[in-house]
Amino acid sequence: MDYITAKSIVSNYREDDNWFGNNYNMNIYKGCCHGCIYCDSRSECYGIEKFDEVRAKENSLEIINKELKSKRRTGVISTGSMSDPYNPFEKKYNLTGRALEIVNNYGFGIDIATKSDLIVRDIEVLQKIKEHSPVLCKITITTIDDELCKKIEPNVCVTSKRFEAIRRLSDAGIYTGVLLMPILPFINDTEENILSVVRKAKKCGAKFIYPLFGLTLRNKQRDYFFKSLDNNFYGVKERYLKTYGNEYLCLSHNANYLYKVLSNECKKLGLLYNMKDIIEDYKKGYYNEQISLFDM
Ligand code: SF4
Repeated sequence: MDYITAKSIVSNYREDDNWFGNNYNMNIYKGCCHGCIYCDSRSECYGIEKFDEVRAKENSLEIINKELKSKRRTGVISTGSMSDPYNPFEKKYNLTGRALEIVNNYGFGIDIATKSDLIVRDIEVLQKIKEHSPVLCKITITTIDDELCKKIEPNVCVTSKRFEAIRRLSDAGIYTGVLLMPILPFINDTEENILSVVRKAKKCGAKFIYPLFGLTLRNKQRDYFFKSLDNNFYGVKERYLKTYGNEYLCLSHNANYLYKVLSNECKKLGLLYNMKDIIEDYKKGYYNEQISLFDM
């Protein structure tokens, strides 16, 4: 794995973000080798060269330690927005795992998004963080079908293993749910898929499902996606071109119906599915605002 230099890793404080109510962002890695055919981070606008090669930020743990020590407010730190914090290199280098120890030491909360079951390695430190601050684990699942999963997310563990990770996290008392996104038009936007994921998530102890019934496509990302469709989904690229042209937001034609299916099933099973409720629920019982004891 290569390294790149970084001056800063943890972002500035922001009041509870609309996206899962976090306050800081932290990415230790740049790029991601999980190969998801729809990945937005591959888009031209982000300017990430060789996106599929993972690079770690040099001295990341020292930088994170210094930055958290100097923050005036604690809060929830989000990781996993532009790269997966549990890429295959993480198994050896344990940068995310050690960063979580620092997050714990300074009394911050954590919000992790991943597709990898390697996250279960860090259950112990997540339990320690949970003692003082909110912990949220979001496992992305797009299809119930492992074979389809291998085609759309080829270099990371399949759906059944991700459900197993949800079960292990939930059994350990860690607040965990499913990011059901993106649901790809003409590929996995079926009622059967949605119901199967919701029911399985419930069985594994998930607390919520948060969906997007469609995907966004931008320059460069679109080319990669279309090439992948040509390789594995005969004739589907032509359907995208005919339906969406060069549009950014490509919603499933079933989006409204699928949302109803999902919300009815979630209500029936006692799963949350809207952002406000999820944020309130995972933060319940914790102070929203604290002055870091370590600043005093
Ligand atoms: S895991 Fe996330 S960052 Fe990595 S390729 Fe897939 S969508 Fe992109």
